Amino acid sequence: MKAAQTRVLTARWGDRGSHTIAASLASGGYEALRKALATPPAAVTEMVKVAGLRGRGGAGFPTGVKWGFIKRDEPPTYLVCNADEGEPGTFKDRELMERDPHQLIEGMVIASWAIGAAESYVYCRGEFAFAARRVERAISEAYERGTLGRNIFGSGFDHDVILHRGAGAYICGEETALLESLEGRRGQPRVRPPFPAQEGLYARPTVINNVETISCVPHIVANGPEWFRKFGTEKSPGTKIFSVSGDVERPGNYEVPFGTPARVLIEELAGGITGGRKLKAYTPGGASSTPVFGASKLDVNMDWESVQAAGSLLGTGAMMVFADDACVVRAMERFMRFYARESCGKCTPCREGTYWLAQIMRRLEAGQGRDEDLDLMMDVQANIGGRSFCALGDFATAPVISVAKEFVDEARLHIRNKGCPFER
Ligand code: SF4
Repeated sequence: MKAAQTRVLTARWGDRGSHTIAASLASGGYEALRKALATPPAAVTEMVKVAGLRGRGGAGFPTGVKWGFIKRDEPPTYLVCNADEGEPGTFKDRELMERDPHQLIEGMVIASWAIGAAESYVYCRGEFAFAARRVERAISEAYERGTLGRNIFGSGFDHDVILHRGAGAYICGEETALLESLEGRRGQPRVRPPFPAQEGLYARPTVINNVETISCVPHIVANGPEWFRKFGTEKSPGTKIFSVSGDVERPGNYEVPFGTPARVLIEELAGGITGGRKLKAYTPGGASSTPVFGASKLDVNMDWESVQAAGSLLGTGAMMVFADDACVVRAMERFMRFYARESCGKCTPCREGTYWLAQIMRRLEAGQGRDEDLDLMMDVQANIGGRSFCALGDFATAPVISVAKEFVDEARLHIRNKGCPFER
């Protein structure tokens, strides 16, 4: 039997006008909000804790625990939705906003009720013009229908959602850099502590959640935490949207329970490798997942624990797939160039190290590499990882580690051949 998706967050994607409030209301949209507003806020947080919802932005931190850090009785508090989806290969949040923005808004109001926030923000990646327009329109519709604004559903709860468009910097996906940018400053990470739950937006307690994470919330409230836990694994409950791209027949976003094998996503849902070729490698979680998996890891289950046990990271669930005639060294060189360009420049190991790693990888790929370059790359990356101000520095070492650990023979071939051995 052919594998099928488990559509929870993507259930409305096939509906005509799925982005409108009419379509949302017709299929039960905002009923979870009505239920939440009749439930004590602490009980809503508890529901999310029991469901085991974990952040879908990459870190996998328990969402209910995050909400529980906020002191509701010390207003104002804020909710910020991190919609600055910039991880290479990831495009799930964009589609969630384009196709079902009301699911997101409903989740945001429920989360705000739980943490006592009268105002929340969607920080949307600057390049997502269409998604931003859809969210903006959805916010207007929600005000018109009274699912946002004053006295929502007669509960006495007031809430406003504000859309803010970023300016296209990858670092603004890092939550403290995002807050700096939202406050009108250059997007660079803040020192922690204090953590955003203590001093976040405008120095007030703030929860920052990813689009996909917040979109799960209405379903947990509507159906209960036990229902949510029926999907996925014990430690990674629920469904997950995987962005599958690269050398596959049907690239796209696929929603499946956590723990689904990578083989099902690549070979069945995404239709397998194009042109009858074979799989060479794939990223389990975007450019930042270290190392890239080779074909021998095709049966790894896609959940946080299994991917980690296999030696990498689930990240955002962005599976970039490379066929056997693709040059992984070239792909990793591009990733490295990306990190060098997106380094915010605040700390020396990342600012200087990513620049030099990009230079070394460029000459390696171009056939001008030297035997000692592989050791040199490992030496430089060891002085970035764990010594940088924020996680971008740690993740920037991912391409080097992938080449050194999984594809060192391919790198040596570039040196011996004095050029790329692949035609593509
Ligand atoms: Fe900026 Fe890189 Fe330092 Fe993060 S690690 S603060 S991105 S320079």
